[in-house]
Amino acid sequence: MNKYSPDDDSAFVDAAFLGPMAENAQILEEWIVQAVRDYSYWRRNAHPEDQAAITTATTLHPDYIEVKARTEDALRRLSARMKRSVPWFSPRYMGHMSSDLLLPAVVGRLLGTLYNTNNVSLDSAGPSVEMELEVGDSLATMFGFKGHTASAQNNPWGHLTSGGTVANYEAIRYLEALRLYPLALVQGLKSLDIDIEKSPVFKYLGGNTSAWKCINVPVDNVMPMRADTFGWMYHTHGKDALLELITAVEESRIEHLGAARFYALHELEQPVLIAPVSAHYSWSKGAKLTGMGRSQIIGVDVDERMRLDVTTLNRTLEKLQNDKIPVLACVSVYGTTEFGTLDPVHEVVKARKAFEQRGLSFGVHVDAAWGGYLVSVFRNEDGSLRSLDGMRKQFKYFPSTEVHQATAALGEVDSITVDPHKLGFVPYPAGAIVYRQRDWARLQIEAAPYVFDQTQEEGKESPLSLQQLGRYILEGSKPGASAISVAVAHEVFPLHKEGFGRIIAQTVHTTERFHDRLDALAHRLRDVAHILMPFEPDTNVVCIAINAVGNSDLERCNALTRAIFDTMRFDPGSPTQTLELIGSFTSLDHKRLTPDAAHRLEHALGLQENALSTENAHVFLLRHTLMNPWLLREAEHDLDYVERYLLFLEKQIRDIIQQDS
Ligand SMILES: *Cc1c(COP(=O)(O)O)cnc(C)c1O
Repeated sequence: MNKYSPDDDSAFVDAAFLGPMAENAQILEEWIVQAVRDYSYWRRNAHPEDQAAITTATTLHPDYIEVKARTEDALRRLSARMKRSVPWFSPRYMGHMSSDLLLPAVVGRLLGTLYNTNNVSLDSAGPSVEMELEVGDSLATMFGFKGHTASAQNNPWGHLTSGGTVANYEAIRYLEALRLYPLALVQGLKSLDIDIEKSPVFKYLGGNTSAWKCINVPVDNVMPMRADTFGWMYHTHGKDALLELITAVEESRIEHLGAARFYALHELEQPVLIAPVSAHYSWSKGAKLTGMGRSQIIGVDVDERMRLDVTTLNRTLEKLQNDKIPVLACVSVYGTTEFGTLDPVHEVVKARKAFEQRGLSFGVHVDAAWGGYLVSVFRNEDGSLRSLDGMRKQFKYFPSTEVHQATAALGEVDSITVDPHKLGFVPYPAGAIVYRQRDWARLQIEAAPYVFDQTQEEGKESPLSLQQLGRYILEGSKPGASAISVAVAHEVFPLHKEGFGRIIAQTVHTTERFHDRLDALAHRLRDVAHILMPFEPDTNVVCIAINAVGNSDLERCNALTRAIFDTMRFDPGSPTQTLELIGSFTSLDHKRLTPDAAHRLEHALGLQENALSTENAHVFLLRHTLMNPWLLREAEHDLDYVERYLLFLEKQIRDIIQQDS
């Protein structure tokens, strides 16, 4: 039946989604009806002795009838109008990062909407805020963040956001709070005339209290340094002195002073943020929002695989250290938005260790908004990492050694952004951020900073109450329904190779198949066109560059690809039936290519030498996200959707090149 089933996950996947033809509509309907019924009983049973407010007689009133009719009409129009939406569900859709939705997530979302809980705090959310923290735990476990004991302050934690964008903003905020705290701590002690040399701070700073030394305290030492200092203060100076110190420190923080006063006070350059040039534009938005400024993001080149280049990173760090410019953090991308490529996270972690030896430290954040869920396929059921050899038996090319190494290093980074609403197959909005240590949340608390519990001894702080979520995160009111949706999806599909990993595995198989067949197509059309992937896919996003044989002009090359893309461009103005297939595009800016990579690409596409070295030069690329679960299923005439796509592509290439000549 299915020509290509490299494994037998088909039935598993078929039960997970509504299906391209809404094959599972009946069970979805059943579950929704059950949810609505059960919810209604809940309402009725809250106080069964109460009288109904809406009587049957009322339903005969003209006003009632009118409102009902208006609602019905509006809903009908709405339904019609929504038909112009993007058909994400279809295996003919190979465009952006969206696809069909997991059934439990859909029902969870609708059910959650009925209860309408607000996850800003425990009082307004009840169970759904617990579910949100459980989601954070499951993501943390998938990434390899270690839990310690049940309530340990150095356990990881995570929560949902509206998306990867806001998660990235929050990462900046958390890293700033953490990395700049030692400066405030020292300033607080100074302002109270405390003998710093006697305080634990002195030991943590190795006897040097300079601003440079303070800002380079390794991330893992900041909270212990703070706790030790507060404990010491309590013992040596008493409780009132400790409270005075806490206030003084709070008033010395960047959060209180603002960046301009803070850096002027310490005669310190503002720290920069390092990110590969392939980073998502939310980082640029974040730099604007935080007042850091876009120029404070230092872009690091990517190599010919479109991954952060480690040599350039090390050179950049060296230069910054020599110039005494502090580094807030280095971001690496686990799954670039444009190309799906994965940065060498392990090398960034290694660079941090090496530079810390030399007195320069920085935070490490991973933007895994796209690729985060890929990690599920790397995990055994017991949470351990699968061996490279074991994984190679399951796939043809995946994962490369570097990808395996990058994944293994995720547990050592400080924070990770991941989007359940992308490769997690759940409804919008659902982004997430996960932190390696929950203790860091203390530095975010808005009101009533550090409430010391009288009954607590030794000047220790009371445990964090993360359920009061709004105190620790950027957002305020937020949908409990999102948390419910993700939580139930994770319950049905646990984040390891036997759960969610089986869905991810399909997308990897699809990509490998696509890859092989594209090579075959390129060979078949070698007299007509150059067709190639500018870089090997690390995940399930593929990009294709095309040029007509004999053409060496970059503009004509781009015009050709653009014309091909126009045949698969989604247009909200016309019915989906008119489109055979849907793709997306991206453009590869020459600034993202090393000179070597640019020359290789020019050569492979038959372009003029140096065509890619002029200002603003870029190559227009077809881009396809291969996350739809049914791409390797038969469409018609024994062809699956990938084959169908490639035949379609072949025809467009032939037709357009012929018209052109
Ligand atoms: C999609 C994406 C983002 C932004 O996430 P949203 O959910 O769209 O806000 C950030 N970083 C990367 C790498 C992404 O792919």
